[in-house]
Amino acid sequence: MDLRSKVLIIGGTGYLGKRLVKASLEQGHETYVLRRPEIGVDIEKIQMLLGFKKQGARLVIGSFNDHRSLVEAVKQVDVVICAVSGVHIRSHQILLQLKLVDAIKEAGNIKRFLPSEFGTDPARMADAMEPGRVTFDDKMVVRKAIEEAGIPFTYVSANCFAGYMVGGLCQPGHILPSRESVILFGDGNKKSIFVDEDDIATYTIKTIDDPRTLNKTVYIRPPANILSQREVVELWEKLIGKELEKSSLSEQEFLNIMKDQGYAEQVGLTHYYHVFYDGCLTNFEIGDDAEEACALYPDIEYTKVEDYFKQYL
Ligand code: NDP
Repeated sequence: MDLRSKVLIIGGTGYLGKRLVKASLEQGHETYVLRRPEIGVDIEKIQMLLGFKKQGARLVIGSFNDHRSLVEAVKQVDVVICAVSGVHIRSHQILLQLKLVDAIKEAGNIKRFLPSEFGTDPARMADAMEPGRVTFDDKMVVRKAIEEAGIPFTYVSANCFAGYMVGGLCQPGHILPSRESVILFGDGNKKSIFVDEDDIATYTIKTIDDPRTLNKTVYIRPPANILSQREVVELWEKLIGKELEKSSLSEQEFLNIMKDQGYAEQVGLTHYYHVFYDGCLTNFEIGDDAEEACALYPDIEYTKVEDYFKQYL
């Protein structure tokens, strides 16, 4: 008898979601992906969903505008993973997720729910700066609803997605590494954590049937990828055999630039601020009430930043 849980992925067409679908199938789970009618004639998304079907996933029709359809979708599985976005759209992600919590509560059969977190642990960001704190506040509202409903959960704190941060040498507005120059946050020495998005998906799926991760936060902290911005740059310089021209942005200069941006940009920049000036991803030890993914699953060979860079050569 196959004891692996059946999984429903919501937001399966997204940047992280599509990787979660792949990892779930690879790890042998019966995998369901929500197909929402609102997609309409977006050919790329429809093709992606049909591609999942070819790889063995089942498509379930359901919409956040139709509570019953969500309940019915949830009833078909044991585990729900949500990967909807909405970081920059106030309340979009929170509203969707609260609707999902209602549906899971009513369905009553879910053994594990993983809400759309996958970043900085919001529980540690109570003092975060405006306006970016909205992301953390919203995620905490969803956590509260999950816990009040008594839904078993795992929260995945995935730190920095490598595609955004490694690719851009940690600079906002850049996703390809320059061969000429880089701007450092202050002295560039605050430690951060970088994780390949495929690895995030692999670790996430590993947690869903693991009793050690029940009702806990799981941090993904690949030891070789705990690096400062300066160290990230040095790895790139080593690969291209060239030293980049470096300049530095003081904390105050960064805050001044931030002030002049639009709301969505300010939300994003707040996160850079806390990661690269505060060191918010590494300034704490993981306590007994949480777990670390690489320690739980030492057999997984994660991608090191130096190898991640090779795709840009
Ligand atoms: P994407 O924007 O790439 O994908 C979002 C998904 O949500 C899509 O599949 C989309 O579906 C779905 N969605 C949006 N609205 C609805 C709706 N009304 N009903 C159903 N589905 C909907 O998201 P990301 O992969 O970038 O983000 C996923 C998570 O990762 C978020 O929690 C985000 O905060 C986090 N993240 C963390 C980062 C980090 O560095 N730590 C970086 C980026 C994200 P459809 O295709 O149908 O529109």
